[in-house]
Amino acid sequence: MSSFSTSSPSPAGRYVGRFAPSPTGPLHAGSLVAALASYLDARANGGVWLIRIEDIDEGRAVPGAAETILEQLDWLGMHSDGEIVWQSRRKDLYQAARERIAGHVYGCGCNRREIADSRLGVGPDGAAIYPGTCRHGLAPGREARSLRLRVPEAGEDLVAFRDRFAGWQEQRLALESGDFVLKRADGYWAYQLAVVVDDAQQGVTDVVRGADLLDSTPRQIYLQRLLGVPTPRYLHVPVVRNAQGEKLSKQTGALAVLPATQDNREEAAVAALQQAAGYLGLQCAAPASAITSLSAFWQQAVPAWAKLLAERGAALAV
Ligand code: GLU
Repeated sequence: MSSFSTSSPSPAGRYVGRFAPSPTGPLHAGSLVAALASYLDARANGGVWLIRIEDIDEGRAVPGAAETILEQLDWLGMHSDGEIVWQSRRKDLYQAARERIAGHVYGCGCNRREIADSRLGVGPDGAAIYPGTCRHGLAPGREARSLRLRVPEAGEDLVAFRDRFAGWQEQRLALESGDFVLKRADGYWAYQLAVVVDDAQQGVTDVVRGADLLDSTPRQIYLQRLLGVPTPRYLHVPVVRNAQGEKLSKQTGALAVLPATQDNREEAAVAALQQAAGYLGLQCAAPASAITSLSAFWQQAVPAWAKLLAERGAALAV
Protein backbone atom coordinates (compact mmCIF):
# COMPACT_ATOMS: atom_id res chain seq x y z
CA MET A 1 0.00 0.00 0.00
CA SER A 2 2.59 2.56 -1.03
CA SER A 3 0.72 4.79 -3.45
CA PHE A 4 -1.52 7.44 -1.99
CA SER A 5 -4.56 7.74 -4.18
CA THR A 6 -6.75 10.82 -4.19
CA SER A 7 -9.66 9.29 -6.02
CA SER A 8 -12.66 8.79 -3.83
CA PRO A 9 -13.63 5.11 -3.47
CA SER A 10 -17.24 6.07 -2.84
CA PRO A 11 -19.78 6.63 -5.60
CA ALA A 12 -20.02 10.33 -6.44
CA GLY A 13 -22.08 12.29 -3.96
CA ARG A 14 -22.41 9.47 -1.43
CA TYR A 15 -21.94 10.50 2.19
CA VAL A 16 -18.96 8.81 3.87
CA GLY A 17 -18.47 9.45 7.57
CA ARG A 18 -16.13 7.95 10.11
CA PHE A 19 -15.33 7.58 13.79
CA ALA A 20 -11.62 7.64 14.49
CA PRO A 21 -10.81 6.85 18.13
CA SER A 22 -7.29 6.87 19.52
CA PRO A 23 -6.89 3.66 21.52
CA THR A 24 -5.73 5.26 24.75
CA GLY A 25 -8.53 3.70 26.81
CA PRO A 26 -12.09 2.41 26.46
CA LEU A 27 -14.95 4.59 25.21
CA HIS A 28 -16.28 6.83 27.96
CA ALA A 29 -19.21 9.23 28.18
CA GLY A 30 -17.26 11.91 26.25
CA SER A 31 -15.92 9.80 23.39
CA LEU A 32 -19.28 8.05 23.05
CA VAL A 33 -20.88 11.41 22.22
CA ALA A 34 -18.50 11.87 19.27
CA ALA A 35 -19.11 8.29 18.12
CA LEU A 36 -22.87 8.70 18.36
CA ALA A 37 -22.93 12.04 16.52
CA SER A 38 -20.83 10.69 13.63
CA TYR A 39 -22.97 7.54 13.41
CA LEU A 40 -26.27 9.43 13.50
CA ASP A 41 -25.12 11.93 10.90
CA ALA A 42 -24.13 9.10 8.53
CA ARG A 43 -27.42 7.29 9.07
CA ALA A 44 -29.56 10.43 8.80
CA ASN A 45 -27.90 11.16 5.45
CA GLY A 46 -28.17 7.63 4.07
CA GLY A 47 -24.39 7.35 4.18
CA VAL A 48 -21.60 4.97 4.97
CA TRP A 49 -19.96 4.99 8.40
CA LEU A 50 -16.41 3.73 8.91
CA ILE A 51 -14.31 3.01 11.98
CA ARG A 52 -10.62 3.90 11.93
CA ILE A 53 -8.31 3.10 14.82
CA GLU A 54 -5.90 6.01 15.23
CA ASP A 55 -3.01 4.12 16.75
CA ILE A 56 -0.32 6.08 14.92
CA ASP A 57 1.13 7.27 18.23
CA GLU A 58 2.25 3.81 19.25
CA GLY A 59 3.78 5.18 22.45
CA ARG A 60 0.35 6.34 23.71
CA ALA A 61 -1.71 3.41 22.44
CA VAL A 62 -2.77 1.18 25.34
CA PRO A 63 -2.56 -2.54 24.56
CA GLY A 64 -6.06 -4.00 24.24
CA ALA A 65 -7.82 -0.61 24.18
CA ALA A 66 -8.64 -0.76 20.43
CA GLU A 67 -10.21 -4.19 20.85
CA THR A 68 -12.23 -2.91 23.82
CA ILE A 69 -13.48 0.09 21.82
CA LEU A 70 -14.52 -2.20 18.95
CA GLU A 71 -16.37 -4.49 21.38
CA GLN A 72 -18.10 -1.48 22.93
CA LEU A 73 -19.21 -0.15 19.54
CA ASP A 74 -20.49 -3.59 18.62
CA TRP A 75 -22.39 -3.82 21.90
CA LEU A 76 -23.96 -0.39 21.27
CA GLY A 77 -25.04 -1.43 17.77
CA MET A 78 -22.62 0.77 15.82
CA HIS A 79 -21.03 -1.35 13.11
CA SER A 80 -18.55 -0.20 10.50
CA ASP A 81 -19.79 -0.37 6.92
CA GLY A 82 -16.28 -1.12 5.70
CA GLU A 83 -13.08 -2.77 6.75
CA ILE A 84 -11.64 -1.34 9.96
CA VAL A 85 -8.50 0.64 9.23
CA TRP A 86 -5.51 0.82 11.60
CA GLN A 87 -3.17 3.77 11.19
CA SER A 88 -0.16 1.84 12.45
CA ARG A 89 -0.44 -0.35 9.32
CA ARG A 90 -0.56 2.54 6.86
CA LYS A 91 2.83 4.18 7.30
CA ASP A 92 3.66 3.78 3.58
CA LEU A 93 0.73 6.03 2.74
CA TYR A 94 1.96 8.76 5.08
CA GLN A 95 5.45 8.49 3.61
CA ALA A 96 4.04 8.75 0.06
CA ALA A 97 2.04 11.86 1.04
CA ARG A 98 5.10 13.47 2.56
CA GLU A 99 7.02 12.84 -0.68
CA ARG A 100 4.26 14.46 -2.67
CA ILE A 101 4.67 17.72 -0.73
CA ALA A 102 8.44 17.44 -0.28
CA GLY A 103 9.03 21.06 -1.36
CA HIS A 104 7.02 22.27 1.65
CA VAL A 105 8.66 20.04 4.25
CA TYR A 106 11.92 20.62 6.10
CA GLY A 107 13.97 18.97 8.83
CA CYS A 108 13.86 20.72 12.19
CA GLY A 109 16.53 20.36 14.87
CA CYS A 110 14.74 22.24 17.68
CA ASN A 111 13.66 20.60 20.90
CA ARG A 112 10.61 21.55 22.94
CA ARG A 113 12.59 23.71 25.35
CA GLU A 114 14.08 25.81 22.53
CA ILE A 115 10.65 26.36 20.99
CA ALA A 116 9.13 27.33 24.34
CA ASP A 117 12.07 29.70 24.98
CA SER A 118 11.26 31.63 21.82
CA ARG A 119 8.22 32.96 23.72
CA LEU A 120 5.88 33.27 20.78
CA GLY A 121 3.26 31.82 23.04
CA VAL A 122 0.93 28.95 22.36
CA GLY A 123 -1.62 28.40 19.64
CA PRO A 124 -5.31 27.74 20.33
CA ASP A 125 -4.59 24.05 20.95
CA GLY A 126 -2.00 24.82 23.62
CA ALA A 127 1.03 23.86 21.50
CA ALA A 128 3.94 26.33 21.41
CA ILE A 129 4.04 28.37 18.21
CA TYR A 130 7.09 27.49 16.16
CA PRO A 131 9.34 30.49 15.52
CA GLY A 132 10.69 29.21 12.19
CA THR A 133 14.25 28.66 13.42
CA CYS A 134 15.10 25.83 10.97
CA ARG A 135 12.92 27.05 8.10
CA HIS A 136 15.88 28.08 5.94
CA GLY A 137 18.19 25.26 6.92
CA LEU A 138 19.67 23.69 10.02
CA ALA A 139 22.28 25.65 11.94
CA PRO A 140 25.79 24.14 11.59
CA GLY A 141 26.19 21.08 13.78
CA ARG A 142 22.43 20.56 14.24
CA GLU A 143 20.66 17.41 13.17
CA ALA A 144 17.04 17.11 12.07
CA ARG A 145 14.83 15.64 14.80
CA SER A 146 11.41 16.16 13.26
CA LEU A 147 9.87 17.15 9.92
CA ARG A 148 7.84 20.33 9.69
CA LEU A 149 5.48 21.76 7.12
CA ARG A 150 6.17 25.34 6.03
CA VAL A 151 2.99 27.43 6.33
CA PRO A 152 2.43 30.58 4.22
CA GLU A 153 3.82 33.93 5.37
CA ALA A 154 1.66 36.14 7.58
CA GLY A 155 -0.86 37.93 5.37
CA GLU A 156 -1.31 34.89 3.12
CA ASP A 157 -1.94 32.41 5.89
CA LEU A 158 -5.67 32.74 6.55
CA VAL A 159 -7.65 29.49 6.42
CA ALA A 160 -11.41 29.80 6.82
CA PHE A 161 -14.23 27.29 6.74
CA ARG A 162 -17.82 26.95 7.87
CA ASP A 163 -18.41 24.32 10.53
CA ARG A 164 -21.92 22.90 10.45
CA PHE A 165 -22.33 23.41 14.21
CA ALA A 166 -19.71 25.92 15.27
CA GLY A 167 -20.25 28.26 12.29
CA TRP A 168 -17.64 30.35 10.50
CA GLN A 169 -14.06 29.67 11.61
CA GLU A 170 -10.85 31.47 10.74
CA GLN A 171 -7.26 30.80 11.66
CA ARG A 172 -4.04 32.52 10.67
CA LEU A 173 -1.62 29.66 10.35
CA ALA A 174 1.58 31.70 10.57
CA LEU A 175 0.46 33.54 13.70
CA GLU A 176 -1.58 30.87 15.47
CA SER A 177 0.32 27.69 14.65
CA GLY A 178 3.55 28.32 12.80
CA ASP A 179 5.21 25.57 10.78
CA PHE A 180 3.80 22.36 12.20
CA VAL A 181 5.18 18.89 12.70
CA LEU A 182 4.46 16.13 10.16
CA LYS A 183 6.86 13.57 11.57
CA ARG A 184 7.75 13.68 15.23
CA ALA A 185 11.12 13.46 16.92
CA ASP A 186 10.17 9.99 18.21
CA GLY A 187 9.77 8.80 14.61
CA TYR A 188 5.95 8.61 14.51
CA TRP A 189 3.93 10.39 11.86
CA ALA A 190 1.93 13.27 13.34
CA TYR A 191 -1.84 13.10 13.76
CA GLN A 192 -2.37 16.07 11.38
CA LEU A 193 -0.80 14.27 8.43
CA ALA A 194 -2.24 10.82 9.15
CA VAL A 195 -5.81 12.09 9.56
CA VAL A 196 -5.72 14.06 6.30
CA VAL A 197 -4.23 11.17 4.32
CA ASP A 198 -6.72 8.68 5.76
CA ASP A 199 -9.80 10.85 5.32
CA ALA A 200 -8.81 11.43 1.67
CA GLN A 201 -7.86 7.83 0.96
CA GLN A 202 -11.09 6.55 2.52
CA GLY A 203 -13.19 9.04 0.54
CA VAL A 204 -14.56 10.65 3.73
CA THR A 205 -16.99 13.43 2.82
CA ASP A 206 -18.04 14.33 6.37
CA VAL A 207 -16.00 14.63 9.53
CA VAL A 208 -18.08 14.70 12.72
CA ARG A 209 -15.97 14.85 15.88
CA GLY A 210 -15.42 16.68 19.17
CA ALA A 211 -14.87 20.45 19.27
CA ASP A 212 -11.46 19.90 20.87
CA LEU A 213 -10.28 19.30 17.28
CA LEU A 214 -11.79 22.48 15.84
CA ASP A 215 -8.43 24.24 16.09
CA SER A 216 -6.67 21.47 14.19
CA THR A 217 -9.03 21.73 11.23
CA PRO A 218 -7.37 24.73 9.50
CA ARG A 219 -4.02 22.87 9.50
CA GLN A 220 -5.78 19.85 8.04
CA ILE A 221 -7.46 21.97 5.35
CA TYR A 222 -4.11 23.52 4.45
CA LEU A 223 -2.58 20.05 4.09
CA GLN A 224 -5.52 18.92 1.94
CA ARG A 225 -4.89 21.85 -0.40
CA LEU A 226 -1.19 21.06 -0.72
CA LEU A 227 -1.94 17.39 -1.37
CA GLY A 228 -4.67 18.25 -3.87
CA VAL A 229 -7.38 16.27 -2.08
CA PRO A 230 -10.95 17.38 -1.36
CA THR A 231 -11.84 19.10 1.91
CA PRO A 232 -14.67 17.28 3.70
CA ARG A 233 -17.55 19.04 5.45
CA TYR A 234 -16.95 19.43 9.19
CA LEU A 235 -19.25 19.27 12.19
CA HIS A 236 -17.68 19.62 15.63
CA VAL A 237 -19.90 18.66 18.55
CA PRO A 238 -19.45 20.35 21.94
CA VAL A 239 -17.02 18.59 24.24
CA VAL A 240 -18.50 16.90 27.32
CA ARG A 241 -17.09 18.40 30.51
CA ASN A 242 -17.16 17.26 34.12
CA ALA A 243 -18.40 19.38 37.05
CA GLN A 244 -14.95 21.03 37.24
CA GLY A 245 -15.24 22.13 33.61
CA GLU A 246 -12.55 19.70 32.43
CA LYS A 247 -12.93 17.77 29.20
CA LEU A 248 -13.94 14.20 30.04
CA SER A 249 -10.98 11.94 29.39
CA LYS A 250 -9.16 9.06 30.98
CA GLN A 251 -6.94 11.65 32.71
CA THR A 252 -9.95 13.36 34.30
CA GLY A 253 -11.27 10.03 35.50
CA ALA A 254 -14.05 9.46 32.95
CA LEU A 255 -15.62 6.08 33.48
CA ALA A 256 -15.80 3.60 30.64
CA VAL A 257 -19.25 2.79 29.31
CA LEU A 258 -19.52 -0.97 29.72
CA PRO A 259 -22.30 -3.49 30.31
CA ALA A 260 -22.48 -4.17 34.05
CA THR A 261 -23.52 -7.81 33.74
CA GLN A 262 -24.29 -10.24 30.96
CA ASP A 263 -28.03 -10.00 31.82
CA ASN A 264 -28.44 -6.27 31.42
CA ARG A 265 -26.33 -5.85 28.27
CA GLU A 266 -29.02 -4.28 26.12
CA GLU A 267 -30.49 -2.19 28.93
CA ALA A 268 -27.02 -0.82 29.76
CA ALA A 269 -26.35 -0.08 26.07
CA VAL A 270 -29.62 1.84 25.73
CA ALA A 271 -28.89 3.77 28.95
CA ALA A 272 -25.38 4.75 27.76
CA LEU A 273 -26.74 5.85 24.36
CA GLN A 274 -29.56 7.81 25.94
CA GLN A 275 -27.12 9.68 28.13
CA ALA A 276 -24.96 10.54 25.09
CA ALA A 277 -28.07 11.54 23.13
CA GLY A 278 -28.99 13.85 26.03
CA TYR A 279 -25.60 15.61 25.81
CA LEU A 280 -26.25 16.18 22.10
CA GLY A 281 -29.66 17.65 22.90
CA LEU A 282 -31.58 15.00 20.95
CA GLN A 283 -35.29 15.05 21.53
CA CYS A 284 -36.74 11.70 20.64
CA ALA A 285 -40.43 11.55 19.76
CA ALA A 286 -41.00 8.72 22.27
CA PRO A 287 -40.38 9.24 26.02
CA ALA A 288 -37.05 7.81 27.22
CA SER A 289 -38.86 5.26 29.40
CA ALA A 290 -40.52 3.79 26.32
CA ILE A 291 -37.18 3.19 24.57
CA THR A 292 -36.03 -0.13 25.99
CA SER A 293 -34.32 -1.85 23.07
CA LEU A 294 -31.40 -0.88 20.85
CA SER A 295 -33.54 -1.05 17.73
CA ALA A 296 -36.09 1.30 19.33
CA PHE A 297 -33.28 3.67 20.30
CA TRP A 298 -31.89 3.86 16.76
CA GLN A 299 -35.35 4.23 15.25
CA GLN A 300 -35.94 7.23 17.47
CA ALA A 301 -32.46 8.76 17.46
CA VAL A 302 -31.88 9.02 13.70
CA PRO A 303 -34.91 11.25 12.98
CA ALA A 304 -34.27 13.18 16.22
CA TRP A 305 -30.75 13.99 14.94
CA ALA A 306 -32.17 15.06 11.56
CA LYS A 307 -34.63 17.34 13.38
CA LEU A 308 -31.90 18.85 15.56
CA LEU A 309 -29.80 19.61 12.47
CA ALA A 310 -32.74 21.16 10.68
CA GLU A 311 -33.45 23.40 13.69
CA ARG A 312 -29.82 24.51 13.79
CA GLY A 313 -29.67 25.09 10.04
CA ALA A 314 -27.00 22.37 9.89
CA ALA A 315 -28.78 19.86 7.67
CA LEU A 316 -27.01 18.79 4.49
CA ALA A 317 -28.44 19.48 1.08
CA VAL A 318 -27.98 15.89 -0.05
N1 GLU B 1 -8.19 10.19 17.12
C1 GLU B 1 -8.75 11.43 17.56
C2 GLU B 1 -9.27 11.29 18.98
O1 GLU B 1 -9.55 10.19 19.42
C3 GLU B 1 -9.91 11.88 16.70
C4 GLU B 1 -9.43 12.33 15.38
C5 GLU B 1 -10.47 12.84 14.43
O2 GLU B 1 -11.65 12.52 14.58
O3 GLU B 1 -10.07 13.52 13.50
O4 GLU B 1 -9.38 12.29 19.65
